[in-house]
Amino acid sequence: AITEVDTIWANGRLVGWADAKVHVLTHALHYGTSMFEGIRVYDTPDGPAAFRLTDHIGRMADSARIYSLDLPYSAGEMIEACKQVVRANALSSAYLRPIALVGYGSIGVVPASGTPIDVYIAAFPWGAYLGDEARAKGVDVCVSSWNRLAPNTTPTGAKAGGNYLSSYLISREAKSRGYAEGIGLDVDGRLSEGAGENLFLVKDGRLITPPAASSILQGITRDSVIKLARREGIEVIEQPLPREMLYLCDEAFFTGTAAEITPIRSVDDKPTRAAGAGPLTRLVQDRFFGLFDGSTKDDWGWLEPVADR
Ligand code: PMP
Repeated sequence: AITEVDTIWANGRLVGWADAKVHVLTHALHYGTSMFEGIRVYDTPDGPAAFRLTDHIGRMADSARIYSLDLPYSAGEMIEACKQVVRANALSSAYLRPIALVGYGSIGVVPASGTPIDVYIAAFPWGAYLGDEARAKGVDVCVSSWNRLAPNTTPTGAKAGGNYLSSYLISREAKSRGYAEGIGLDVDGRLSEGAGENLFLVKDGRLITPPAASSILQGITRDSVIKLARREGIEVIEQPLPREMLYLCDEAFFTGTAAEITPIRSVDDKPTRAAGAGPLTRLVQDRFFGLFDGSTKDDWGWLEPVADR
């Protein structure tokens, strides 16, 4: 369940949690025409900081660009609004959910000109996505019978509401079969990603992850892991991967804003060689979570303070 807080940012002003409503004929409800982000705010020694907020807002603008939607707010305004809603609710850590959607005013699939693009930003507390134990012990997952979206259908490089019907089918099937999460194969049958997470394998001391062309969302956590690992001198390879690599790897883990770094313990009932968090997964976790307690140096300016300057 979502933990309610006081206010939500709605089209430029703060409104009460219960008042952030849309009309039933909102275009996005019918056709999936929304662009959104998920961002975590961490309670750091220097105060609450939004992790890679600028990059997330940049990806949201890119998603809108793919669908030719004109966002009514600049990136700078969106970034400021995200910080404002965290402050307004006095949150020290939070999950931020900005969403831009084609609003009320047109029922045609291509909205008539003048149909509003509405923008909302919610911030609320949210714990570990795949469960509290998952971070330490890892999760048991399966390969889904559903493929991820083919590249010439709806692009997985956009974080658009409609894409999450694919994630819904993959994750729902996995959960109904008793697994924590499902992994989608791409249209060629190669490894793609989890329903809401990117996938990394560890083999012979190297990190391997499917490339952008494998129908993935190019995750910001994925990019952070690649940069953190390379700074440690660990080789990271982006390459197309056959399914059997899931059964041959030493370690595997998911990355995502919600899932953070979650070890994969088994796939299709076959334990990885590490059967949980192996040494490289632990190192990546240590460096990633270290960003938020100050034990990992932030060379990139990823921690963006939410405090008023
Ligand atoms: N893939 C999908 C389908 C996702 O929904 C997410 C979560 N946004 C990710 C990957 C991970 O992306 P990020 O690290 O930017 O949260």
